[in-house]
Amino acid sequence: MNFSDELVNWYTQNKRDLPWRHTTDAYIIWLSEIILQQTRVEQGLPYFYRFAETYPAVTDFAAAEENEILKLWQGLGYYSRGRNMLKTARMVQDLYGGKFPTRYADLIKLKGIGEYTAAAIASFSSNEAKAVVDGNVYRVLARYLGIFEPINSTAGKKLFQLKANDFLNKKNSALHNQAVMEFGAMVCKPKNPACGICPVRLDCYAFKHNATTSLPVKLKTVKVRQRYFNYFLYTDGEHILMNKRDESDIWANMYDLPMIETDGIAPVNKLITHPEAVNYFGEALEISTISEVKKHILTHQQLYIRFITIAKQPVSLKPNWFFIKVENLQTLPLSKVIFIFLDNFLN
Ligand code: SF4
Repeated sequence: MNFSDELVNWYTQNKRDLPWRHTTDAYIIWLSEIILQQTRVEQGLPYFYRFAETYPAVTDFAAAEENEILKLWQGLGYYSRGRNMLKTARMVQDLYGGKFPTRYADLIKLKGIGEYTAAAIASFSSNEAKAVVDGNVYRVLARYLGIFEPINSTAGKKLFQLKANDFLNKKNSALHNQAVMEFGAMVCKPKNPACGICPVRLDCYAFKHNATTSLPVKLKTVKVRQRYFNYFLYTDGEHILMNKRDESDIWANMYDLPMIETDGIAPVNKLITHPEAVNYFGEALEISTISEVKKHILTHQQLYIRFITIAKQPVSLKPNWFFIKVENLQTLPLSKVIFIFLDNFLN
């Protein structure tokens, strides 16, 4: 048996029973693919059900408000995915009359759909002969073939796509693609791959050369930015002061508390006299409690966050600040860190 047949054989006997594997509906496949980007299956599954039930067709999705999407997305992270999905759904509504395209050439033109997602939807929905290359495929191919070209270099991306195309079973691309990805997720795992039960181990470069820990190779390029957020919580017991975030930063268009960003962890006396604090909270800022600094890790940023509860109402409000009844807080899409803090504080 060749590489593809071996993996398809393994997949047929060992695949996980996941809801999007029972359909060729391009819209449902798209939902699952976007939700599962940089997300574990167990974490994404409840979100998939929630979205598929709330918006059974792409036309339902296209008619939603951005706030509704962000609220359903709450806790999953990478919120730009949710916002881009809304744009995609509306494009499908406008350009294709609400019928989700199934051809790679049409899919790749849609917002938030890159080469991997277009290939996945095209092959799973219409069996189009397109090879998918995701993190799992990079890992399997790098190890099996002994490719040391970094997977995130331009040359590496081209090479891996070529190799994936070579291996593709063009008559049944849907099955082939799903098999390679599932095999990467379940057997050829990032850590401790199960080489002992691997059906292709006798031909695998990494197995033969004891090189599973060195492959795949990845260039370290991303610089992590460190940021320091000082959140201020003011409530009169019935209302709470909130902030709507703008488009240009993390958690775009979601909601958090009034915040002052500093260059480092500012001592309390410096925070009280910070020009923004004086401007909005007055000269005599009365702090009731101040939390420990918590580290919150995002892909390219490390946030150091602390929460400061204040006793006196601000003297002026920024344009994005507003009061909301505490009981209505649940209607606002919040980042996980804010949600957890408010949940603990208010309950
Ligand atoms: Fe991956 Fe090990 Fe199989 Fe090679 S032998 S493909 S490293 S699981």
